Amino acid sequence: MTDRSFSDRHIGTSAADRDAMLKAVGFSSLEALMDACMPDLIRSAGPVGLPAAVSEAEAQAELRAIAAQNRPMRSMIGLGYYGTRMPAVIRRNVLENPSWYTAYTPYQAEISQGRLEALLNFQTMVADLTGLSVAGASLLDEASAAAEAMLLARRAAPRGAGEVFVVDSGVLPQTLAVLRTRAEPVGIELVVADCAVEELPEGVFGVLLQYPGADGAVRDWAGVVEAAHAAGARVAVAADLLALSLLVPPGEFGADIAVGSAQRFGMPVGFGGPHAGFMAVRDELRRQLPGRLVGVSRDADGAVALRLALQAREQHIRREKATSNICTAQVLPAVIASSYAVWHGPEGLERIAEGVAGRAARLAASLEAAGVGVVHGSLFDTVVARAPGRADAVVASAAAYGVNLRRVDGDHVAVACDETTSEADLRIVCDAFGVDLVDEAPVAVPARLRRHGGFLTHPVFSQYRSETAMMRYLKRLADADYGLDRGMIPLGSCTMKLNAAAEMEPVSWPELAEVHPLAPESQTAGWRRLIGQLESWLAEVCGYAAVSVQPNAGSQGELAGLLAIRAWQADRGEGGRDVCLIPASAHGTNAASAVLAGMRVVVVACDAAGNIDLEDLEAKVAANADSLAALMVTYPSTHGVYESSIVEVCGRVHDAGGQVYVDGANLNALVGWAKPGRFGADVSHLNLHKTFCIPHGGGGPGVGPVAVAEHLVPYLPSDPMAEEPGRVGPVSQARWGSAGILQIPWMYLRMMGPEGVASATASAVLAANYVAARLRDSFPVLYTGEGGLVAHECVLDLRELTRRSGVTVEDVAKRLIDYGFHAPTMSFPVAGTLMVEPTESEDLAELDRFCAAMIAIRAEIEAVASGAVAVEDSALRRAPHTAAAVTAEAWDRAYSRSEAAWPAGMTSAKYWPPVGRVDNAWGDRNLACTCPPIEAYGAD
Ligand SMILES: *Cc1c(COP(=O)(O)O)cnc(C)c1O
Repeated sequence: MTDRSFSDRHIGTSAADRDAMLKAVGFSSLEALMDACMPDLIRSAGPVGLPAAVSEAEAQAELRAIAAQNRPMRSMIGLGYYGTRMPAVIRRNVLENPSWYTAYTPYQAEISQGRLEALLNFQTMVADLTGLSVAGASLLDEASAAAEAMLLARRAAPRGAGEVFVVDSGVLPQTLAVLRTRAEPVGIELVVADCAVEELPEGVFGVLLQYPGADGAVRDWAGVVEAAHAAGARVAVAADLLALSLLVPPGEFGADIAVGSAQRFGMPVGFGGPHAGFMAVRDELRRQLPGRLVGVSRDADGAVALRLALQAREQHIRREKATSNICTAQVLPAVIASSYAVWHGPEGLERIAEGVAGRAARLAASLEAAGVGVVHGSLFDTVVARAPGRADAVVASAAAYGVNLRRVDGDHVAVACDETTSEADLRIVCDAFGVDLVDEAPVAVPARLRRHGGFLTHPVFSQYRSETAMMRYLKRLADADYGLDRGMIPLGSCTMKLNAAAEMEPVSWPELAEVHPLAPESQTAGWRRLIGQLESWLAEVCGYAAVSVQPNAGSQGELAGLLAIRAWQADRGEGGRDVCLIPASAHGTNAASAVLAGMRVVVVACDAAGNIDLEDLEAKVAANADSLAALMVTYPSTHGVYESSIVEVCGRVHDAGGQVYVDGANLNALVGWAKPGRFGADVSHLNLHKTFCIPHGGGGPGVGPVAVAEHLVPYLPSDPMAEEPGRVGPVSQARWGSAGILQIPWMYLRMMGPEGVASATASAVLAANYVAARLRDSFPVLYTGEGGLVAHECVLDLRELTRRSGVTVEDVAKRLIDYGFHAPTMSFPVAGTLMVEPTESEDLAELDRFCAAMIAIRAEIEAVASGAVAVEDSALRRAPHTAAAVTAEAWDRAYSRSEAAWPAGMTSAKYWPPVGRVDNAWGDRNLACTCPPIEAYGAD
């Protein structure tokens, strides 16, 4: 017997399943189905030019050989990336556990209590350590968090305030580079100043300080904060979380905002990412926080229940008025960071920080004792030594013994200590400088900057000291959640497909994970080869000239793409073009990104069939003839159909002098069959965490590469550490963004090959059409394209049923939990609908189980509509049902216990939600965003 190919395992349906499904849809082959639903005009001529598929073992062996071209050394480079130890209990139970990594963003609170609790721990940890009252549930990286802080400070500034944002010269260079990218399009003037000595300029609305500085100095910023406040400016402090367990927190010396990275809380440097960025603010700014905020609320029975607070999905509602474009954030890295804090507790963190600071102090003392000057005496982990004329020699000497130091300039060398720095490392450093290592030295932080007062006092940070207790805590949280390891997550637009184990394993390989992003090129050949191959494969798949993997989410790819358009137009003397046309059906990030790129959003209507209204497009193009910058359109549309007018639409925009941005989040309907770069688009972003198998991680990390046609290649995001900034600048702090997870799409494409990806696409389209066909009689399919077919997803219209019965899409979503499913996408792109995207990874039995659940729910709705049951008393409205509710002594409901918990023969794979329907409004009225006291959990 021959081994089945990987694509046969990735694609859930068997050949026999597909035959049966094709029959149900009315086609004889996948080819015939694709011929019927995908417009000829966009079809590629031949197979996509990827290398032929190899087996799982062969692909891993090939990747091993590439990884072996890296030479991971001990890095004492610092600058935002530090050695850290991921506790094995966290690696095995979180990072490598599909219950954590396959989950979606916790919009459906009832099935997400585990990751919501871990994120609440993250918020509590960040709030405690920064000394501010409210922290969000992660941002994309430190540099973009600083950009978000800058924008927040401007939103919060009084009317008539100036446009100047002051960045202290001690800020990390990559942060400054990203700030430059982000400030210019929105009209903010960046001023770099040595805040310790210089006066603040006129018109300043905000200031960013680094604590400790990039040069390692721990400064007392209280006076600067006071001066900034006196000038009417808000102060953001980019802080090191580990240092904060020893230092006076920013909130105590007056900062309004704190940002940073939680990387050194257990996440490997990963050649640049992914790492959880964070932001915390003073209470009065909480409504301005970008990204997601977990809050405490209660469920239908009054039990404590967590959910996303305030701005959940705010871009979808506020669009161009959204506070930011962040959608996918860094949930998994945030869960890992908060678990690290839970595992070590406050004493553990303090011990680790003391160890780091102690080693740095010994280094500084050793250098000074031997007459080598140290630039700053007040330091946490980084020592900058004076080595006049011999910086290169010192760096080379340490490198010869396997330790990377940072050359600041010809006369200075920086050395950063971390959790993993050993005695041997310190000796190598001392040898490189030609000095002796002293045995002891006091921590080099002045007493007045030492933290007093506790942190992480909540019991969660001291309850799980034994590994047994920690393992069970992580298991309890994981068990609360619904991930792809339980069943289908049919979220339209999100592409919740298989994240294969063979793809995931290389994420943990140290020869990839332990490479510092600023390590010398001679040590990173493997990484650069992996990235180069992946970028070229992706460029081939989507038909563009070049791809950059730098953007660390789809939203950032959008921003990078729009900035490329803007800069290209400016260079052609068309800098006045600033209108971005966006169809009404677009994803919320589109409009938010356009605003961040300095564009004005003009909405284009959709017609009754869900397609771009060509007449309205024509009118909007004409009305903005001289100012048209771009059309930003999703293909296939967010309505789930292949619009046949797309080629014509692209043509009209080009004729009017605009560029076409195709949002590639729906590429799972195109790969192997059509290429946006070939059917008329100039630029796209792809979501590697959708189409290319990076797991959603419960809401991140993601990768949103930006792909461009030839003329836009010079406008791709640049290296944040480059001497000469690129034309557009970087959008992420690391040159290759979240490099540490690019193994996953690499493995996927290597194992699938050209035929594999094409059949995955066709199988996904078949699955969507099969579901549409089976459910059409129960729920009208709102939009279809040619031949009454959909693409890879379908929108089920519940509006008429809601009108007749009062049963809402939310009721259906919650009732699906009782049936053992994650809900489809709710009310996007059309309010009152559910959008189903089954993907190619589900087998026929699971698709049928889902269809059966939806059909059974339709009968339950009918019972309400006919008046047999009042909607308030229905199992739909009272869903989901917890074990506690179903097994309570009293039962006075209009339906039986078994109808509640085991509806329509749902006998296998029962998932019990830990809480009942969560009250969102109550939680927003009584906002609490840190861990509630343990008593709040009742008898627990
Ligand atoms: C998911 C999605 C995005 C945003 O991607 P993120 O990685 O979450 O920022 C943009 N557009 C569409 C159509 C999407 O489905």
